[in-house]
Amino acid sequence: MTYQHYINGEWVDGDGTETFDSRNPANGETLGTFQRGTTTDVEAAIAAADDAEDEWQSLSRIDRAEYLWDIYHELKDRHQELGEVVTKECGKEISEGKADVTEAWQMVEWAAGDARHPKGDVVPSEIPEKDAYMRRQPRGVVGCITPWNFPVAIPFWHMAVALVEGNTVVWKPAEQTPWCGQIIAEMFADAGIPDGVFNMVQGFGDAGARIVDHDDIDTVLFTGSAEVGEEVARTVADDPGKLAACEMGGKNGIVVTEKADLDIAVHAAVMSSFKTTGQRCVSSERLIVHEDLYDEFKQRFVEIAESVAVDDPLDEETFMGPAIEPAHVEKIQTYNDIAREEAENVLVDRTELGDDEIPDGHEDGNWVGPFVYEVDYDPDLRSITEEVFGPHVALIEYSGDIERAVEIHNDTPYGLAGAVISEDYRQINYYRDNAEVGLAYGNLPCIGAEVQLPFGGMKKSGNGYPSAREVIEAVTERTAWTLNN
Ligand code: NAD
Repeated sequence: MTYQHYINGEWVDGDGTETFDSRNPANGETLGTFQRGTTTDVEAAIAAADDAEDEWQSLSRIDRAEYLWDIYHELKDRHQELGEVVTKECGKEISEGKADVTEAWQMVEWAAGDARHPKGDVVPSEIPEKDAYMRRQPRGVVGCITPWNFPVAIPFWHMAVALVEGNTVVWKPAEQTPWCGQIIAEMFADAGIPDGVFNMVQGFGDAGARIVDHDDIDTVLFTGSAEVGEEVARTVADDPGKLAACEMGGKNGIVVTEKADLDIAVHAAVMSSFKTTGQRCVSSERLIVHEDLYDEFKQRFVEIAESVAVDDPLDEETFMGPAIEPAHVEKIQTYNDIAREEAENVLVDRTELGDDEIPDGHEDGNWVGPFVYEVDYDPDLRSITEEVFGPHVALIEYSGDIERAVEIHNDTPYGLAGAVISEDYRQINYYRDNAEVGLAYGNLPCIGAEVQLPFGGMKKSGNGYPSAREVIEAVTERTAWTLNN
């Protein structure tokens, strides 16, 4: 069986003849075969979304949200099953697979609940007899392009708010996680969402690029790598009527000051660097540690990096699963090679794992272990400025005050996430006020999202339209309405 696209309320094969497989990164097993969407399929989906706009916008926000409440219950009721699908398709540990589903229903809950909240503002006017309002109106057809690493949560970050606000949607899931895409599309179909309001085209970058450059797309919500995000932003810049919200990667740092609690510091570093095999946009690849506790921190961190096991991600006890695909293992290996050239000292090199480290029956998985090195700080080194997106971590020793640590922390083209570990409120406040990141954490690992907070980055990590709750700014126009009484 080959899974289809969902366009205009129907399951369709589409125009193309090519198909592609989804594979379990932990053992290479084929999970399903999917139609590969063409630019013609994307155009059909956009035409359907364009046609469906008026009817969808004629419903109240509260009625539109009703469709999402059905999906909210479905996500909750099928938590374990869907968590296992996420784990099988993207290799995350099962606790992380389930957390992805939890975050999805939290986002749906936030967006659907927000339907009953006031929208816009009553604004004072210069003229006493005039009423003035700021209103929000939907932008129209929203194109959503999502990455593989949060294959259920991120699509809902994009789509839940866009739909409640009255936009129609064309979504392309990541090519690595089409099964998650299929299940989400089934949920919309089962909820009875009107034809054309939600459309899904499976496929690769060429299908994504057609969403981005199509004249009838009003907003592009993109989450993925900086390379693709920059291309998306450049294409959209040619059309003044179109907006792109781009959320991209990071080269995230954790500052451990001389006033840090070492237990908290080591825990934060291990969780941020190795959880999800370092494949979170917020994973940390730079640990910036004060000289006073550098040696002890290093010894404790290295001990754990040497010993963390990779294992079957479906096992509840597993700490680290596989990398997403063979090409990504190669990318991580390439950056480990670059770091070998640039490092003062390689401390842990588990690039190639031994046969005895790979779980039985999982020999065809995409396995890679931690790589830890220390560098003399130099902002021109590729290893400490480019996103690897794997368990690849640099230790950088600093001396002096928090100002110096934050200078190093900020000295990358990216600005997504970071953390400070310190017991000194002055240092914490300095970090909070000066870290050039969209997501800053104090005495915590630099991972974790809450849907009621903005989720996005600065500099090369984002273009000022954070995800989750704040998507509202990218999917609505703010208009002024004045009335003479
Ligand atoms: P990716 O950029 O390779 O792909 C993301 C999506 O873009 C996929 O659906 C892909 O098919 C599509 N795409 C590829 N080429 C395209 C093109 N030319 N035009 C339009 N669409 C195109 O990213 P990925 O490997 O799926 O995900 C990992 C990256 O995503 C990492 O860099 C990570 O840091 C980032 N990420 C960022 C956030 C965030 O919120 N900032 C969250 C998760 C992941």
